[in-house]
Order: sequence, then C-alpha cells, then structure tokens
Amino acid sequence: MHTVFTHALVTGGAGFVGSHVCENLVRSGTRVVCVDNFATGARENIAHLLPEQSFELVEHDVTEPLELPGGVDVVLHLASAASPKDYLRLPIETLRTGSLGTERMLEFAGRHGARFVLASTSEVYGDPLEHPQREGYWGNVNPVGPRSVYDEAKRYAEALTMAYRRERDADVAIARIFNTYGPRMRAGDGRMIPTFVTQALAGEPLTIQGSGEQTRSVCYVTDTVAGLLALAHSELTGPVNIGNPHELPVWRLADEVRALTGARSGVRRVDGAEDDPRRRCPDISLAREELGWRPEVALGEGLRRTIDWFAARHAAA
Ligand code: NAD
Repeated sequence: MHTVFTHALVTGGAGFVGSHVCENLVRSGTRVVCVDNFATGARENIAHLLPEQSFELVEHDVTEPLELPGGVDVVLHLASAASPKDYLRLPIETLRTGSLGTERMLEFAGRHGARFVLASTSEVYGDPLEHPQREGYWGNVNPVGPRSVYDEAKRYAEALTMAYRRERDADVAIARIFNTYGPRMRAGDGRMIPTFVTQALAGEPLTIQGSGEQTRSVCYVTDTVAGLLALAHSELTGPVNIGNPHELPVWRLADEVRALTGARSGVRRVDGAEDDPRRRCPDISLAREELGWRPEVALGEGLRRTIDWFAARHAAA
C-alpha cells in the first residue's frame, strides 16, 4: 500500500471521469492539479472545484512538455478523447495524445518520482473472442479501421507504460476501464446511456444501433473512480480490469431507461457502427482479489442518479 498521496496531477481532469477523480481526491484532502486542454472536456465539470484552495487548473495540452513548480506524488493520466464520436472527429489528435502525451506524462512522473496510473480501456480487447475478458487476453483489434485511432493509441500507451517499468523501473499501473456512465457525460457525445436518457427525456424514440442483442456491462462513475484510486494506492502494476460484470443486451438498457423515465416513446433501430464489439464483459477477479474493489452501485440506482442529473439540466435549458 502506498502512503496517502498529498499531491496529485490529473490529466483530462475536466472531462467526465477525470472531474469525478478530481472531486474524490479534493474531498479526501489531496492537493490536485488538473491538466486539460478542453478538447472534449468542459469548464463547468470542475467549476465547483475552482474555489477550493487545494485545486488548481492548468490549461495545457499533454503532448507539450510540462513543467510545474512543487512536488507531485501521483499522476493519473486520463487525457484522451473517449467517445467514438469525439475520437472519430479527432483521429490524429487522439493518436498523438495517447502516444506522445503518454510519453510526456511518464517523463513528468519520472522527474517527480511519482506513481503513474494510465487510464486504459476495454477497447484494447477489440471485438473480443474470449468471454468474459480477462487481463491475459491479447485482444482482437482491427489496426486500420476507423476505431483503431483510439484502440491502438491505448495499446501503444500500455506498451510504453510497461517499457518504462521494465527499462527504468518506473512505478506505474494500468487500469483497463470498461464502459462507465453517470452525471457529466455530454448529451451529444454519442455514447449509449446519455443518448438514451436525453432521447427519453425529450419524448423521442430511443435509437438502438444494430440488433440491440450486443451486450454491454456498464459501471457507475463513482465505482470506476474508486477502482482507479484503489489501484493508484496499491503497488499493483496490472493491467487490471475496472468495470461492472453485470452484462446486459443493449435493448434491455434501453428498456430500463424508458421504465425509469416513464417515457412513452418507443425504440428505433439504426445501422450498427463499424467494428462495434458484440459482447463486452469484464472479469474483475484480479481487482477483487488484489485491490479489494468491486462495484457497489446497482444499475437502477446509477441510472436514476444519471437521469436526475440530465433531467435537472433539461429543465434548466
Ligand atoms: P472525456 O472526453 O470526458 O474526458 C477526456 C478529457 O481529456 C477531456 O477533458 C479532454 O479535454 C482531455 N484531453 C484530451 N486530449 C487532451 C490533451 N492532448 N491534453 C490535455 N487534455 C486532453 O472522456 P472520459 O469518458 O472522461 O474518459 C477519460 C479517460 O478514461 C480516457 O482516457 C478514456 O480513454 C478512459 N476511459 C473512459 C471510459 C468511459 O466509459 N468513460 C471507458 C474506458 C476508458
């Protein structure tokens, strides 16, 4: 177990997951520097943290060298476009952030003697041929398809992180995060849950890509953040899966959202995305055994909190 961190750097801290990471750390008494270039993040995600003495925002692109006064004892590296809509719009930037940006942050962590935690993704498993996915599975990724800009950037980032460990004995960890949802996702970012929720609240039909039989396992954001921070505080390198193993077909998720919002709208089927994985479910034995972590927020509860958050914004708009 690492001692409690006093100074953390969170890249991508103004994004969906990153802002919850910053919030959790600030609440637990850690000083946080949030580094973000707002490529896909939003100032309003961290507006409530800006008045805090222990929180600082540095507007910066992680592909540029970073110098900061003062010490840092952990770097949580989340900077990267993450929704397909974003990374398909920013293909080269996504590859550069995953490759050069990760190298810059590994160098930064090394100069500060800080632990480095990479936010990787279940997308490294591609369209998996093994089910559920264990960390030992090497994946089934199309290296030249449109989604490869994200998947391969993360695979490279993992390889680079492991090379720093092997060659320089760097203190590093890799979290393979599975689909996460919750407040502060963007309504128009193309990801399934915000799309379903905003459609249901607007009384529009919910659009299901493909047959709807493809499965997803979705994890509420506070659970994902707890897993990521448990990894940061451990001595584990990983990679380690962080996700919720409760697997559901997409049509069932749409039904849950319709039931919880009381929406009368139906569903509409649209074409599936290219290389969209058919099944996705983490095996989280490693995180359970080594980190003592498991997701705690049930789907109905997580969806209700998410719907409430979107509904409040919908009402204010
Ligand atoms: P997000 O788009 O909401 O947040 C990403 C943040 O990184 C944004 O604030 C963006 O402005 C920032 N960023 C991007 N490029 C940058 C750069 N070059 N320099 C500085 N900042 C930059 O996405 P998210 O869903 O919060 O994802 C955060 C991380 O978690 C990503 O690394 C993503 O790959 C990983 N992840 C997320 C999920 C998920 O379901 N949300 C699943 C697996 C992995």
